[in-house]
Amino acid sequence: MTIRKVSCQGCGASLEVSEDVRYVTCNYCDASLEIVHDTTVTHSLLLKKLERNTDRLIDEVTELRLARELELLDAAWQKFCKATFAVDSDGTVHEPSENESRGLAVIGIVVGVVICVAAAIGGSPFYILPGGALIALAAASFSRTPKLVTEYRKSKAVYQRRRQEVLDGMQACRSRRRVS
Ligand SMILES: [Zn+2]
Repeated sequence: MTIRKVSCQGCGASLEVSEDVRYVTCNYCDASLEIVHDTTVTHSLLLKKLERNTDRLIDEVTELRLARELELLDAAWQKFCKATFAVDSDGTVHEPSENESRGLAVIGIVVGVVICVAAAIGGSPFYILPGGALIALAAASFSRTPKLVTEYRKSKAVYQRRRQEVLDGMQACRSRRRVS
Protein backbone atom coordinates (compact mmCIF):
# COMPACT_ATOMS: atom_id res chain seq x y z
CA MET A 1 0.00 0.00 0.00
CA THR A 2 1.48 3.31 -1.07
CA ILE A 3 1.49 6.29 1.28
CA ARG A 4 1.00 9.64 -0.43
CA LYS A 5 1.71 13.07 0.94
CA VAL A 6 -1.04 15.57 0.50
CA SER A 7 -1.48 19.08 1.85
CA CYS A 8 -4.66 20.00 3.68
CA GLN A 9 -6.76 22.56 1.81
CA GLY A 10 -8.03 23.86 5.12
CA CYS A 11 -4.77 24.72 6.88
CA GLY A 12 -1.93 23.67 4.60
CA ALA A 13 -0.63 20.95 6.90
CA SER A 14 1.12 18.03 5.26
CA LEU A 15 -0.83 14.81 5.70
CA GLU A 16 0.12 11.23 4.88
CA VAL A 17 -2.67 9.24 3.32
CA SER A 18 -2.65 5.72 1.96
CA GLU A 19 -3.76 5.30 -1.60
CA ASP A 20 -7.02 3.54 -0.89
CA VAL A 21 -8.30 6.30 1.37
CA ARG A 22 -10.93 8.54 -0.13
CA TYR A 23 -12.00 10.78 2.76
CA VAL A 24 -10.01 12.04 5.74
CA THR A 25 -10.35 14.57 8.50
CA CYS A 26 -7.33 16.80 9.04
CA ASN A 27 -5.65 16.19 12.39
CA TYR A 28 -4.75 19.84 12.71
CA CYS A 29 -7.83 21.83 11.76
CA ASP A 30 -10.66 19.25 11.63
CA ALA A 31 -11.41 20.02 7.99
CA SER A 32 -13.10 17.22 6.05
CA LEU A 33 -11.15 16.41 2.91
CA GLU A 34 -11.72 14.33 -0.13
CA ILE A 35 -8.50 12.77 -1.36
CA VAL A 36 -8.19 12.68 -5.13
CA HIS A 37 -5.65 10.22 -6.50
CA ASP A 38 -4.65 11.07 -10.04
CA THR A 39 -2.20 8.99 -11.94
CA THR A 40 0.59 11.46 -11.31
CA VAL A 41 -0.41 13.47 -8.27
CA THR A 42 -2.50 13.15 -5.11
CA HIS A 43 -4.30 16.19 -3.82
CA SER A 44 -7.08 17.04 -1.42
CA LEU A 45 -10.39 18.78 -1.91
CA LEU A 46 -11.93 20.69 0.92
CA LEU A 47 -15.37 19.39 1.83
CA LYS A 48 -16.05 20.95 5.20
CA LYS A 49 -13.77 23.48 6.71
CA LEU A 50 -13.32 24.24 10.39
CA GLU A 51 -16.88 23.44 11.27
CA ARG A 52 -16.01 22.12 14.68
CA ASN A 53 -13.84 25.13 15.44
CA THR A 54 -16.67 27.43 14.45
CA ASP A 55 -19.10 25.57 16.71
CA ARG A 56 -16.62 25.86 19.54
CA LEU A 57 -16.31 29.59 18.98
CA ILE A 58 -20.08 30.03 18.96
CA ASP A 59 -20.28 28.11 22.23
CA GLU A 60 -17.63 30.30 23.79
CA VAL A 61 -19.40 33.47 22.73
CA THR A 62 -22.73 32.09 23.94
CA GLU A 63 -21.22 31.19 27.29
CA LEU A 64 -19.77 34.67 27.70
CA ARG A 65 -23.13 36.21 26.86
CA LEU A 66 -24.88 33.95 29.39
CA ALA A 67 -22.29 34.74 32.07
CA ARG A 68 -22.97 38.43 31.50
CA GLU A 69 -26.71 37.86 31.70
CA LEU A 70 -26.24 35.99 34.98
CA GLU A 71 -24.34 38.96 36.40
CA LEU A 72 -27.03 41.42 35.31
CA LEU A 73 -29.79 39.14 36.60
CA ASP A 74 -28.21 38.82 40.05
CA ALA A 75 -27.49 42.55 40.21
CA ALA A 76 -31.06 43.42 39.25
CA TRP A 77 -32.47 41.04 41.84
CA GLN A 78 -30.21 42.44 44.57
CA LYS A 79 -31.28 45.95 43.61
CA PHE A 80 -34.94 44.97 43.71
CA CYS A 81 -34.53 43.39 47.15
CA LYS A 82 -32.65 46.38 48.52
CA ALA A 83 -35.28 48.77 47.21
CA THR A 84 -38.16 46.72 48.55
CA PHE A 85 -36.97 45.11 51.78
CA ALA A 86 -34.76 45.71 54.75
CA VAL A 87 -31.16 44.70 54.15
CA ASP A 88 -28.69 43.95 56.94
CA SER A 89 -25.27 45.57 57.09
CA ASP A 90 -23.76 42.28 55.90
CA GLY A 91 -26.01 42.32 52.83
CA THR A 92 -28.54 39.70 53.94
CA VAL A 93 -32.00 40.49 52.65
CA HIS A 94 -34.91 40.23 55.02
CA GLU A 95 -37.46 38.43 52.93
CA PRO A 96 -40.97 39.48 53.83
CA SER A 97 -42.64 36.96 56.06
CA GLU A 98 -46.39 37.14 56.26
CA ASN A 99 -46.54 36.37 59.99
CA GLU A 100 -43.78 38.79 60.92
CA SER A 101 -45.30 41.72 59.04
CA ARG A 102 -48.79 40.91 60.29
CA GLY A 103 -47.48 40.57 63.84
CA LEU A 104 -45.95 44.04 63.59
CA ALA A 105 -49.21 45.43 62.19
CA VAL A 106 -51.20 43.88 65.07
CA ILE A 107 -48.78 45.39 67.61
CA GLY A 108 -49.25 48.78 65.89
CA ILE A 109 -53.04 48.50 66.11
CA VAL A 110 -52.90 47.47 69.79
CA VAL A 111 -50.53 50.34 70.66
CA GLY A 112 -52.77 52.77 68.74
CA VAL A 113 -55.86 51.57 70.61
CA VAL A 114 -54.03 51.82 73.96
CA ILE A 115 -53.00 55.40 73.16
CA CYS A 116 -56.57 56.34 72.19
CA VAL A 117 -58.09 54.71 75.28
CA ALA A 118 -55.49 56.30 77.56
CA ALA A 119 -56.13 59.65 75.92
CA ALA A 120 -59.89 59.26 76.41
CA ILE A 121 -59.54 58.18 80.04
CA GLY A 122 -56.86 60.77 80.84
CA GLY A 123 -58.87 63.52 79.19
CA SER A 124 -56.12 64.45 76.69
CA PRO A 125 -57.91 64.42 73.32
CA PHE A 126 -54.74 65.71 71.68
CA TYR A 127 -53.35 62.11 71.69
CA ILE A 128 -56.36 60.59 69.99
CA LEU A 129 -55.16 61.90 66.63
CA PRO A 130 -51.71 60.15 66.57
CA GLY A 131 -53.28 57.07 68.16
CA GLY A 132 -55.87 56.94 65.39
CA ALA A 133 -53.24 57.54 62.72
CA LEU A 134 -51.18 54.63 64.07
CA ILE A 135 -54.24 52.35 63.94
CA ALA A 136 -54.97 53.41 60.35
CA LEU A 137 -51.35 52.86 59.23
CA ALA A 138 -51.08 49.49 60.94
CA ALA A 139 -54.41 48.37 59.51
CA ALA A 140 -53.31 49.42 56.01
CA SER A 141 -50.03 47.51 56.28
CA PHE A 142 -51.95 44.51 57.66
CA SER A 143 -54.09 44.32 54.52
CA ARG A 144 -51.19 45.16 52.19
CA THR A 145 -48.85 42.45 53.52
CA PRO A 146 -50.27 39.40 51.74
CA LYS A 147 -50.13 41.20 48.38
CA LEU A 148 -46.52 42.27 48.95
CA VAL A 149 -45.49 38.76 49.94
CA THR A 150 -47.26 37.27 46.93
CA GLU A 151 -45.56 39.75 44.58
CA TYR A 152 -42.22 39.00 46.15
CA ARG A 153 -42.63 35.24 45.78
CA LYS A 154 -43.74 35.60 42.18
CA SER A 155 -40.73 37.78 41.33
CA LYS A 156 -38.39 35.41 43.12
CA ALA A 157 -39.77 32.41 41.21
CA VAL A 158 -39.27 34.20 37.87
CA TYR A 159 -35.75 35.24 38.86
CA GLN A 160 -34.76 31.76 39.97
CA ARG A 161 -36.25 30.09 36.89
CA ARG A 162 -34.36 32.38 34.51
CA ARG A 163 -31.18 31.97 36.57
CA GLN A 164 -31.43 28.18 36.29
CA GLU A 165 -32.00 28.44 32.52
CA VAL A 166 -28.87 30.56 32.17
CA LEU A 167 -26.83 28.13 34.29
CA ASP A 168 -28.11 25.17 32.24
CA GLY A 169 -27.19 26.98 29.03
CA MET A 170 -23.66 27.62 30.29
CA GLN A 171 -23.34 24.01 31.38
CA ALA A 172 -24.45 22.82 27.93
CA CYS A 173 -21.84 25.01 26.23
CA ARG A 174 -19.13 23.69 28.52
CA SER A 175 -19.99 20.03 28.06
CA ARG A 176 -20.22 20.43 24.27
CA ARG A 177 -16.72 21.88 24.29
CA ARG A 178 -15.45 18.93 26.32
CA VAL A 179 -16.86 16.48 23.77
CA SER A 180 -15.41 18.20 20.72
ZN1 LIG B 1 -5.93 21.01 7.99
